[in-house]
Amino acid sequence: MGATYRGRFAPSPTGPLHAGSLVAALASWLDARAHGGTWLVRIEDVDAPRCVPGADHLILQQLAICGLVSDEPAIWQSQRGDQYQQALNQLIEQDHVYPCGCSRKDIEAALRAQGASRERHHIAVYPGTCRPDNGGLHGKPARAWRFQIPAAGDVNWTDRRLGPQTQNVIAEVGDFILQRADGLWAYQLAVVVDDAAQGITHVVRGEDLADNTARQILLQRALGLPTPTWLHTPLVLGTNGEKLSKQNGAQPLDLSDPLRAINAAAHALGLPPQTGPVSQALAAWSRTWAIAWQA
Ligand code: GLU
Repeated sequence: MGATYRGRFAPSPTGPLHAGSLVAALASWLDARAHGGTWLVRIEDVDAPRCVPGADHLILQQLAICGLVSDEPAIWQSQRGDQYQQALNQLIEQDHVYPCGCSRKDIEAALRAQGASRERHHIAVYPGTCRPDNGGLHGKPARAWRFQIPAAGDVNWTDRRLGPQTQNVIAEVGDFILQRADGLWAYQLAVVVDDAAQGITHVVRGEDLADNTARQILLQRALGLPTPTWLHTPLVLGTNGEKLSKQNGAQPLDLSDPLRAINAAAHALGLPPQTGPVSQALAAWSRTWAIAWQA
């Protein structure tokens, strides 16, 4: 398996890396090295309005300071619209998607009419208003493309750290968007198309993304693409007990002492502190990782 392992770190350039994103970057790098595999960086800049100009290059620089350099040239999702369109066309031809004319307000009104309380959901579960078997667009103009979740309810998958997982995607998420009303590609479609195009065999990323996995597996099945193995890494919590994120003001990484920054990330992964050059620390951790996570 070593020769075929391909892993990736896929940051969204919505700001510089913070301590939490370095944990996912380091874990994916170590797992690739421990398996004798290839490690790639992909810039996930499909959500253009959320991207910060220059953050992509800053992230690549921050990674390089930590000794984490993509084995192949990085790719940018903003350059790959044709591939996403091709995948959407395939899904249209195979009746896996339908056009949706609902605005956010329409969805909220439909959910209220069903008696669903908004608080119950982290995200509004799409009530299926524009599903073809519900009468389609009801005369509204098409705004977005949604994936029609197949009837078989639960998606089961295994995480190398979290163990067996189950999600009923219809009940917990609903038919989800692949292309938004503003024409932007959704993360779910872009990530699945690119993981397959780049031959990714092992996804290692932060636990905050675990919730997306079932959706991505459904898309992989619909597109006839292989499903990689999954490992979701522990989140770094801020002093307020919340996960660190750019949205809640996490500070950019202080890389004045790169070893200290990656020692902190390694600590979050249960790895021992190292002294000496970053390259030696990385080598030591990849040996530890190879023993701990050989799944
Ligand atoms: N671009 C996503 C993020 O920065 C990560 C996607 C992934 O690893 O699947 O949150």
